[in-house]
Amino acid sequence: MHYQSTRSATHAIAPKTFMQILLGGLMEDGGLAMPLSYPQFSADELSALRGMNYRELAFAVLSKFADDIPADDLRSIINRTYTPEVYCNVRPGSNAQDITPLTTLEPGLHLLELSNGPTLAFKDMAMQLLGNLFEYALAKTGQQLNILGATSGDTGSSAEYAMRGKHGVRVFMLSPHGKMSRFQTAQMFSLQDPNIFNLAVRGVFDDCQDIVKAVSNDHAFKAAHSIGTVNSINWARVAAQVVYYFKGYFAATTSNDQRVSFSVPSGNFGNVCAGHIARMMGLPIRKLIVATNENDVLDEFFRTGVYRPRATAETLHTSSPSMDISKASNFERFIFDLCERDAAKVAALWSQVDQGRPFDLTGDVFAKVPQYGFVSGRSTHADRLNTIRAVYEKYKLMVDTHTADGVKVGLEHREQGVPMIVLETAQAAKFDETIHEALGCAPWRPASFDGLEALPQRFEVVDVSADQVKNFIHTHA
Ligand SMILES: *Cc1c(COP(=O)(O)O)cnc(C)c1O
Repeated sequence: MHYQSTRSATHAIAPKTFMQILLGGLMEDGGLAMPLSYPQFSADELSALRGMNYRELAFAVLSKFADDIPADDLRSIINRTYTPEVYCNVRPGSNAQDITPLTTLEPGLHLLELSNGPTLAFKDMAMQLLGNLFEYALAKTGQQLNILGATSGDTGSSAEYAMRGKHGVRVFMLSPHGKMSRFQTAQMFSLQDPNIFNLAVRGVFDDCQDIVKAVSNDHAFKAAHSIGTVNSINWARVAAQVVYYFKGYFAATTSNDQRVSFSVPSGNFGNVCAGHIARMMGLPIRKLIVATNENDVLDEFFRTGVYRPRATAETLHTSSPSMDISKASNFERFIFDLCERDAAKVAALWSQVDQGRPFDLTGDVFAKVPQYGFVSGRSTHADRLNTIRAVYEKYKLMVDTHTADGVKVGLEHREQGVPMIVLETAQAAKFDETIHEALGCAPWRPASFDGLEALPQRFEVVDVSADQVKNFIHTHA
């Protein structure tokens, strides 16, 4: 399998292998890596997948994308990653052996538990694999890698827990100073591993993301310091996320004649993009429901056909903070498909976006969106509180704020006879302030997290300045 950029035709930039794009971030033209075509699962192959455990499924899916890794190596990486020991933080009653257990709320309404990993967020599903893939790739070539990332909470801690202690890897993680929850801050800043550096930026998440882009676009610096990324634009992360759509589908159905809908709490569009890819590979998905919070740039697009990235100053600070974005970095991948893979068109659209200008696809390809199954909705703080309460009262289950957005919007699109799977993207324990507000009690927390907030913290405060960040990396790499 080879990969091209969303912004250049294949004759302009030669397609690359999985291993060639694994350690990189953006393609050299600023676009995102996309497979030249989607591997297909026939009806017979789909039948063979039903009944596989998570590791077998992961191999079946990922070996199609990473066909330049010898099968035995890939299998051993996957078998080390997806274990009940790594994904052990299951709620009482769920089975850790399932890796992503499916909890049925009522017939036809399910939660797919994706947040049982070390940082209690779905990002661990892909990031733990990435940690092992990076270590494998670096050991092969004897290279070093300096990972630069931006986080509003979940990405950063997930990356740090995946990379801590990994040989040849350092992590420089930017986060908006003072804007993460106490739990998230403690989770990241309490890490004392010498290869982990937390940089608290005096700004918002998008400022952090812009610094990462600016540093990545400085090709000389990037090459001199072996800068890589683990942000959701990393193709391997998206590919790893494709796996659990298959797992969830088989767990919620009894026959491959059935179709299911997925409701996906969305920010940077990485999670639901993986759903789109699973659907393109032949998984019988009916709807992909994009659930946003008050930062509704994606909902607006799917309702109107106009993509209107917001100014960073317009980004709202909400109680589902991992969805607080003003532009959705992985959205470009879907638009590439929607534009029938016309890279020149995508390049033109994103030259608008990069100048903060909207684009309008009405009267153009927007009419084709329904063919891809996408619908959307938004949820507010009040909706979030109501949903957390309703789920708790009706099903005796605590959901986190992001999952609540997924439940709220998912129910708006529920159809008779079509199972609905809401992706559970984090555990309630991470957002105790909002859980208190909704339920008047503290969230359940896995025992290993007791006393987390009291641990000593280690971080540096920096300005919104790519130069300051470059200097820091230069000194510490
Ligand atoms: C990252 C995150 C999201 C958003 O996922 P995207 O891939 O950015 O759309 C939703 N919920 C939680 C808890 C997250 O950490």
